[in-house]
Amino acid sequence: MIAAPYAWPDGVRGAFAMTVDVDGPTPHLWKSRDGRPRPAELEQRGYGPRRGIWRVLDVLADAGVTGSFYVPGAYAQQNPAVVREIAARGHEIGLHGWMHEPPVDLDRATFLDVTRRALDTLHDLGGGRVTGYRSPSWDMTDAAFDVLLELGLAYDSSMMGDDRPYRLAGITEVPVSWALDDAPFYRYVGGPDPGHPPHRPREVVQRWADEVDAAARYGTLAVLTVHDWLSGRPAAAAALADLLAHVRESGVWIATVAEIASWHDAQGAVA
Ligand SMILES: [Zn+2]
Repeated sequence: MIAAPYAWPDGVRGAFAMTVDVDGPTPHLWKSRDGRPRPAELEQRGYGPRRGIWRVLDVLADAGVTGSFYVPGAYAQQNPAVVREIAARGHEIGLHGWMHEPPVDLDRATFLDVTRRALDTLHDLGGGRVTGYRSPSWDMTDAAFDVLLELGLAYDSSMMGDDRPYRLAGITEVPVSWALDDAPFYRYVGGPDPGHPPHRPREVVQRWADEVDAAARYGTLAVLTVHDWLSGRPAAAAALADLLAHVRESGVWIATVAEIASWHDAQGAVA
């Protein structure tokens, strides 16, 4: 026995969180901040706010799944209708930088400044009580953890040190996994850093279904991360709909990341 089984609510075995990183063009704008962004990549990523996010929202509505959406502040400012719609449908909204800046690119004062600005923007757009942070590029620094605590946030969801919620750097961590991210399978942008040729969505979601089945088997947590401009494409969205139907049948607890973090905190768990 490697560990006592994690105690999920109502005796369910395993948990699942549907998360959406609503990046649109922001990662490319950050990476090309000292040069000129490529119009082709901006357009490809612009598919997210133009079309993809709306399709993802409809897929979740049809499946009856409430998710967690991490929105960069600049994206929110440029696409206020997206933020309002996410909130109106009852989803959680969380932090994802201002211009999708990985914390390693910023000193503490700048990280604090952009995170505060993003918090205010999401709040002003009706994002509700924002309690969570997801690091752009799933990287962190000690200073960034420190700032999350200073701002009174409840959790981070960027690290991969466990397969259930845990405590890290004084905050609750709801862990992610590259295997449950759509970017390694779908991200292909051409140019100097193209990513891999896209995988077939039907095969990708079969792999994700294996992860959910394993979470049910071992009593662990599966946090799925998709992106507006990738999983909003038609075949990927159709496959995501099939996956969510499978998740519902699996009997795992489907919850937002905020709910999972708050469940973990309520257990008085410190490990
Ligand atoms: Zn992102």
